[in-house]
Amino acid sequence: MASVTFRDVRKAFGAVEVLHGISVGIEEGEFVVLVGPSGCGKSTLLRMLAGLEHVTAGEIWIGDRVVNALPPKERDIAMVFQNYALYPHITVAENMGFSLKLKGVKKVEIAERVKPAAEILGLSHLLDRYPRQLSGGQRQRVAMGRAIVREPQVFLFDEPLSNLDAKLRVSMRSEMKNLHQRLKTTTVYVTHDQIEAMTMADKIVVMHDGIVEQVGRPLELYDQPNNLFVAGFIGSPA
Ligand code: ADP
Ligand code: MG
Repeated sequence: MASVTFRDVRKAFGAVEVLHGISVGIEEGEFVVLVGPSGCGKSTLLRMLAGLEHVTAGEIWIGDRVVNALPPKERDIAMVFQNYALYPHITVAENMGFSLKLKGVKKVEIAERVKPAAEILGLSHLLDRYPRQLSGGQRQRVAMGRAIVREPQVFLFDEPLSNLDAKLRVSMRSEMKNLHQRLKTTTVYVTHDQIEAMTMADKIVVMHDGIVEQVGRPLELYDQPNNLFVAGFIGSPA
C-alpha cells in the first residue's frame, strides 16, 4: 500500500476551471471518502489520480513518486466504477483474472491469485458461472475481485454502489469495510451520499464547487463543522 498526496491540484476543461487547488494527504492504509454534491469535482479528481485525466496544475503523488506524467498502467492502482461492466461471454474466474492475462501472467499464477480473492468475496462457488447468472450484488463483488487480484497499492472507487438497490447498498457498505480491514489497502472512495461517507470513512474530504471545505474523521465533521456548508451537508440525509 502507498500514501497519496494531492498538492494544489487544479483542473480546467477549456477555459473553465472546475478544481481550484486541491491539497489533501491520504495515509497508507487509510479509507478516505471524497464526498460532495453532484458536479463538485469528485470524479475528476479521482480520474486524475487514476491517470485518466490530465492534471492542469499541481502535483499528485502516489508513495514517493509524482505520477502526473505516468500512464495509468504504471500507477499501481485499481479502479472500480459505478458501471462495472463484466465481460458477458467469459466466466467469473476469467473476468477476475482478465487483466492479469493481458499482462502475461501465467495461468497457474492467475488461478492462485483468483482463488483467495474469490474466498474473501464469497464467490468461490460461482467461479464457473457467467455474469448473466449472477445477482447485482454478486456482479459487484466480481468487479471488486477484478481489482483485488491486481494487488494494487491503491484502490479507487467511484460511486460503486449507486446502481444497487437500497438494501443491497447497505449490506455492501459493510462488506467493503470488512474487505478493507482484511486487505488494508489504501482506498479513495467517491460518493455523493453522506451516510455512506459517515459509515465507511476513516477520513472524509468534503468537497463543494471545486474546493475542499473540510477534511476530518466522521465525528469531527459532525461535531465541529468548519462552516454552514459542511454542517448542512453532513447533517442532512442524502
Ligand atoms: P462529480 O463527480 O462530483 O459529480 P465531476 O468531477 O464529474 O463531478 O464534474 C465536475 C465538473 O467538471 C462539472 O461541472 C462537470 O460538468 C465538469 N466536467 C467533468 N468532465 C468534463 C469534461 N470532460 N469536459 C468538460 N467539463 C467536464
Ligand atoms: Mg462523479
